[in-house]
Amino acid sequence: MSDVIDGFVFADEKHNVETNQATVWQILSVEDNQEYQASLINSLQKLKTVQGHPLQILTANSAFEAAAILSQHPNIALILLDVVMEDDDAGLRLVKTIREVMGNASIRIVLLTGQPGFAPEKQTMQALDIDEYWNKPDLTMDKLHSVTTSNLRTWHYIVQLTQAQQGLQMVIDAARTISSKSDIASFTNTVLSEIGKIVGITTGGIMCVRIEERSQSNIFHVVEAIGCYKDFSRLELSSETLYDINQNIAYVIKYKTSVLRTSQSIFYFETKDIDNNCYLMVVKSDTSISEANTNLLKVFSENISSGFTNIALLNRLTSIAYTNQDLNIPNRNWLLREIQNLNHKERIQSKLLLFDIKQFEEISFAFGSDYCVKVLLSVYQNIRQAIPHPIPIALSDTQQFTALLPCDVIIDEELQAQLTHQQFEFDDVVHNIDLAIIEMSLDNSFYYSASKILNLAESSLKESIHKPRSYIIHTQQDSETISRSYNLMGELRNAIKDRKLSVMLQPKVRLSDEHVVGFESLARWQLEDGTYVRPDEFIPIAETAGLIYNLDCLIFEKTLEALQQLSCADIHLPVAFNASSIDIQHPHYYEFIRSRLENSGLSSELLELEITETQAMDDYQNVQARLQKFIELGIRISIDDFGTGHSSLAHITHLNANYLKVDRSFVTNIGIEGNNKHIVQMVIDLGHNFKFDIIAEGIETNEQKQILRDMGCELGQGYLFAKPMPVSSLIPWLNQKLS
Ligand code: C2E
Ligand code: MG
Ligand code: MG
Repeated sequence: MSDVIDGFVFADEKHNVETNQATVWQILSVEDNQEYQASLINSLQKLKTVQGHPLQILTANSAFEAAAILSQHPNIALILLDVVMEDDDAGLRLVKTIREVMGNASIRIVLLTGQPGFAPEKQTMQALDIDEYWNKPDLTMDKLHSVTTSNLRTWHYIVQLTQAQQGLQMVIDAARTISSKSDIASFTNTVLSEIGKIVGITTGGIMCVRIEERSQSNIFHVVEAIGCYKDFSRLELSSETLYDINQNIAYVIKYKTSVLRTSQSIFYFETKDIDNNCYLMVVKSDTSISEANTNLLKVFSENISSGFTNIALLNRLTSIAYTNQDLNIPNRNWLLREIQNLNHKERIQSKLLLFDIKQFEEISFAFGSDYCVKVLLSVYQNIRQAIPHPIPIALSDTQQFTALLPCDVIIDEELQAQLTHQQFEFDDVVHNIDLAIIEMSLDNSFYYSASKILNLAESSLKESIHKPRSYIIHTQQDSETISRSYNLMGELRNAIKDRKLSVMLQPKVRLSDEHVVGFESLARWQLEDGTYVRPDEFIPIAETAGLIYNLDCLIFEKTLEALQQLSCADIHLPVAFNASSIDIQHPHYYEFIRSRLENSGLSSELLELEITETQAMDDYQNVQARLQKFIELGIRISIDDFGTGHSSLAHITHLNANYLKVDRSFVTNIGIEGNNKHIVQMVIDLGHNFKFDIIAEGIETNEQKQILRDMGCELGQGYLFAKPMPVSSLIPWLNQKLS
């Protein structure tokens, strides 16, 4: 079986030949002729070392034995192989096994044969990477020595190249691992462990030190440390302590350069351009770091260097992204991130305070942006000082601060007053600023995203403008209401896009005989689950979400379709559609109505436009001028919900309209003594004086109808006569009424 030649080198180191300084190089002689093998070994023993490496010769007497030895000794450098052994091509089969089965590409192979005719073909030699082929009688001792020496050298190069390739792959992998780290602590941690892997440090240690330059003496912060330096981790060291650790450190800092030694290396990196920092990486290995590994470290240090730069850049960008640059305080992104990072328990224990500076736009308009910055800073300082807790405060919008604070910080009435009415002095002037404040607990908010939470609080803040108090506590119910509107807004956008809204028509009648004189077209929205959303809910949502124009255009087209259907049923009565002041002032609205009407072939007399009194008065001059164009087109105008707009009576004379619709709220209570009766009477009288037709909305009882008739109101609309219904029901209803 296998044999290790005793007395050559490292007799008993079958499994441990690579100890000490120069490793042993192994040669395997495979030869079935014992005599020839003995003389071969004899000649080889005279060679002793190659490039300072002692040689060890292993022997096998058959291809089979050789395969067993090769699998036990994966680092054999050279094989001297007899071609003809068990059979004629036993040697070549072994070569195939080595190259193709064992996958050993580095081992050098020299074929030997006693019969020249058995030489393999040139292609086979190349394919199997066989280096040489020798006729045994030609292989003198000198030639054997030179063949062995040159092949061992080649093997050494191949091994070095393979290691370098693997090392480079490690560097690439390590670089990839470190590049995914975005904070300096986890970055250095990864760098240290990757350096450890590259160098193969088992003892020794590595540490990363950030140098803070001071005028007197530098301060050294150990960012991370492993191995023998572990105890220094996260400490602040004096220069004396650091220089004790490694004397070269003083040199490295002075000359801002890396020093690479076989057992101690110090790398120097700086990110001064970005954040004025520099770093040292001290690597200590108890066994010497090989030249190849030192080179790899050099390559890797380039990656570390750019890694430090990237992190410094990232930190800089992060600070820009999360800070308001004018005030140098956290911004909205920062706030959102803070909220998002709260875990369930922390959310339960937290609340938000939103501060909105009232009339900020006016202040900005009157006094300019420099003044606004001063106001913001003063408000910010005031909030900081007033709240008895060190809390982070962000500028969450142009005029709005948000503080995130623990639930148990109580804002009592006195503090509320102090926060809502602030007084401060700058430029020698005392300034008074009022704030609206929302307090919102984050309890129950776990399933909401940070931006949803902030939006909820902001919606409450907007709502609070209508409330007399300036300090409002946002409740869970507020959240639910706002959430529903928020969800509906998304659905409404789709419903309009998909034309999923429909219309119902409600008859308008002559009060004297309940003869139908026309209809009002009302928008209807049915959700996927079959339920209807009331227009009182979705119309305001459409207005806030900027969807009202699209909604009204869609409803107008549906109204024209309804009119066509009525016309086909030989019903030629006018239908009113509702429009908002946003529509009326929209640059394309008039043209939209005109062209759709023209395309329909319907008469403009079959259309009435209803606009609420409040909206008609909104931008009075402008809206009136535009309404005039509709009148010229032949469309009549109704002023809807009349009486609710207060400013109305003064302007009634100038209203470009044909009808006044008395609001349902007056009609509902009209039978109750002392109520709005006299107001309704006044509206009817005034309306008549100015040639308006009066129509009363929401008539539900005969009593209401009678009172209104007695007051001189000719027309009415209400459940007493008919509820709004789809055209398909309206046509049979009308036919039945006429029959
Ligand atoms: P409006 O234009 O004043 O419409 C009359 C509302 O009173 C309708 O409510 C109608 O169903 C209801 N009503 C009629 N008679 C009675 C009654 O006897 N008793 C009671 N309790 N209610 C009655 P609806 O359909 O819920 O519409 C509410 C409001 O939504 C409308 O008030 C109108 O301002 C707005 N709206 C409806 N459709 C549209 C539209 O297509 N565009 C715009 N911009 N607004 C619309
Ligand atoms: Mg209406
Ligand atoms: Mg109305």
